[in-house]
Amino acid sequence: MKPPSFAARLVAWQRAHGRHDLPWQRTRDAYRIWLSEIMLQQTQVTTVVPYYQRFLAEFPDVRALAAAPLERVLEHWSGLGYYRRAHHLHAAAKAVVAVHGSVFPRTAATLATLPGVGRSTAAAIATFAGGPPAPILDGNVKRVLARHRGVTGFPGAAEVERALWRIAALLLPKRGAAAYTQGLMDLGATVCTRGKPRCDACPVAADCVARATARIDQLPSPRPKKALPHRSVRVLLIERAGEILFERRPAAGIWGGLWSLPETATDGDVAQHCLMRFGATVVAGEALPPIEHGFTHYRLTIVPQRIGVRRWPLRAEAPGLLWLTREDARAAALPAPIKRLLATLAN
Ligand code: SF4
Repeated sequence: MKPPSFAARLVAWQRAHGRHDLPWQRTRDAYRIWLSEIMLQQTQVTTVVPYYQRFLAEFPDVRALAAAPLERVLEHWSGLGYYRRAHHLHAAAKAVVAVHGSVFPRTAATLATLPGVGRSTAAAIATFAGGPPAPILDGNVKRVLARHRGVTGFPGAAEVERALWRIAALLLPKRGAAAYTQGLMDLGATVCTRGKPRCDACPVAADCVARATARIDQLPSPRPKKALPHRSVRVLLIERAGEILFERRPAAGIWGGLWSLPETATDGDVAQHCLMRFGATVVAGEALPPIEHGFTHYRLTIVPQRIGVRRWPLRAEAPGLLWLTREDARAAALPAPIKRLLATLAN
């Protein structure tokens, strides 16, 4: 015998174990359902219930909400957080009055044109309000489907999200869509939770790919770490009579105010650079192994280049330049990778 479908198992589980007594579950009024769906975004059910009730007492229908001053709406939202939702709520109520003759839309496509109503929220409102059912895909549902179907890849990535929408659409039953949708939401919120899902209590555990392949803690895949930008710089180890030339770094920026080695682009001509910058005649010596250094926002490859001095101009050094012996340099305020570099010099 064919096992019951995903939807049938979820609906049966929802009847027995799901949430039934929430105030917005006792209505098909799209206005009330919309209000609850917006309040439930990023907010726990227990927090939402009293706000929902107070809000409805003050604004019993969409006309009342649209006619209220924004300050009044914000007062009633105060404490729920994410105040953009309240601004959107007010704008959407005005749009329903102005564009839809105060009749709250019940198709997902029209609902999705309202401010603050995304595709998944629009689908949930349509489905619960008795409009044409449409699949939902909020954060919890993405997690359930990614695990159950073994979908790898970060669900926020466009192609992964498209694949999850396809699955969500395929699973949506033709009949009983509201109970199914509620079941999917309840499963994500109470059983297939982010940490420590209760698979033993899950109605769809028998064919869950993540469970069968022991990948529950790997699915859904986390957001890929952004590769840090990378920069390279050549540092010049200009040596003259047992001393090395240091330059004070500008106060702003990395290593602000520290003494460091003069820098130049990695692809420039160092002899030309020293002539232009210091009026000095030099010869490029040994290229030392590069040093990798990580900052919070980028990675830096330091390419050290030894430089021998043939002629240094006979004038007082410009402010911000300093010749130091290696010994003195050890005590100076130098950036850590430059200190490391100096420590590696054999002679
Ligand atoms: S078996 Fe576990 S991981 Fe799979 S859908 Fe159910 S609760 Fe989620």
